[in-house]
Amino acid sequence: MNTTNNEEGCCFETQAIRTQTERSQYNEHSTPLYLTSSFVFDDAENMRAVFAEEIQRYSYSRFTNPNQTELVEKIRIFEKAEAGFAFATGMAAVYCSLFPLLKTGDHIVSCSNIFGSTRGLFSNTFPEWGVETSYFDLNQVYDVERLIKPNTKILFAESPTNPGVDVLDLAYLGEIAKKHNLIFIVDNTFATPYLQNPITLGAHIVVHSATKLIDGQGRACGGVTVGYKKYIHKIYLFARTIGASISPFNAWVLSKSLETLAIRVDRHCENALTIAEYLEQHPAVEFIKYPFLPSHPQYEIAKKQMKQGGNIIAFGIKGGLDTGRTFLDALQLCSRTANLGDSRTIVTHPASTTHSKVPAEEKVATGITDNLIRLSVGLENTKDIIRDLEQALTTAQ
Ligand SMILES: *Cc1c(COP(=O)(O)O)cnc(C)c1O
Repeated sequence: MNTTNNEEGCCFETQAIRTQTERSQYNEHSTPLYLTSSFVFDDAENMRAVFAEEIQRYSYSRFTNPNQTELVEKIRIFEKAEAGFAFATGMAAVYCSLFPLLKTGDHIVSCSNIFGSTRGLFSNTFPEWGVETSYFDLNQVYDVERLIKPNTKILFAESPTNPGVDVLDLAYLGEIAKKHNLIFIVDNTFATPYLQNPITLGAHIVVHSATKLIDGQGRACGGVTVGYKKYIHKIYLFARTIGASISPFNAWVLSKSLETLAIRVDRHCENALTIAEYLEQHPAVEFIKYPFLPSHPQYEIAKKQMKQGGNIIAFGIKGGLDTGRTFLDALQLCSRTANLGDSRTIVTHPASTTHSKVPAEEKVATGITDNLIRLSVGLENTKDIIRDLEQALTTAQ
């Protein structure tokens, strides 16, 4: 609604900068913040027609707002989607993109390596409403058809995965979804729309936590879902009813962030590759996974479906749980926090924090070993990041 210059024929960087809400009567250059909960109507007839959905215009910010529209338009264009909606958080986007498409008795097939809260939704919340989920692990991607039942409605995947940084063959999963008439939903948070476009590989719906690389500076939470109109319309009606919409302020921040997404992600990826190469040759490192290192088990698939390798590295330090914790404690520059995709490099130890409640056998299946470290490479100079990692690795050994 009311975006001018959406520049669909242009390149990514140009779209990110020039997709812009229509100027107001003041002719401002940069999009202002529309911090308003509602919009006034011209007359009673206009008001009636808007409520009857005969004409489209802004009425209430729980439904839509110019800042939220601009953010969504950008992601919609990047992801080559028909429509979209923006949410308060990434999890609101995940939840609202699934719930209105499901009914009691439906079945989900999902990769087991997915974001922890999404897994909680599938394993704890949905069963209460009669929706069951079957999981496949990384070794079963090409066997996924075995899990599909007559009542399977949704195929769900994330790639690269969190925290293992595994890569799933999205084009293959897209074919399976098409063959069995499933709705294929991809959480594209780790790749961002700059590195990977799941809709071109067969996805119907793409979900983003905008809190991560899209914001890129650890400031605002947000989520965006884009996809085919027939699904997005249902998702939109549900989301506006329950009030899961993004605030105009966060939408404004995140849309501004998108103007620099390409150059930021380019540098994130360049830094991550430098650090991955450093870690790979380090004697204290037992294993390392980074999608664009030739040693990554799905390197060929990553090369095929991603433009670059992203900013997340998974590696194991020689030793056990204590070595991982000592390494974390020894860091002086890198941050110990659970976020990712920030300009600041972040290190986490999943086994003792985000994934400490995951049962032991599930941890093994999803590759969360006691010595696994997840590194979200930031935009500091790699010389400084490496110096910090080096002294912490030495202390931990
Ligand atoms: C962070 C994250 C989410 C949830 O996003 P929030 O904005 O924290 O709600 C979902 N999926 C993935 C892959 C994430 O990394």
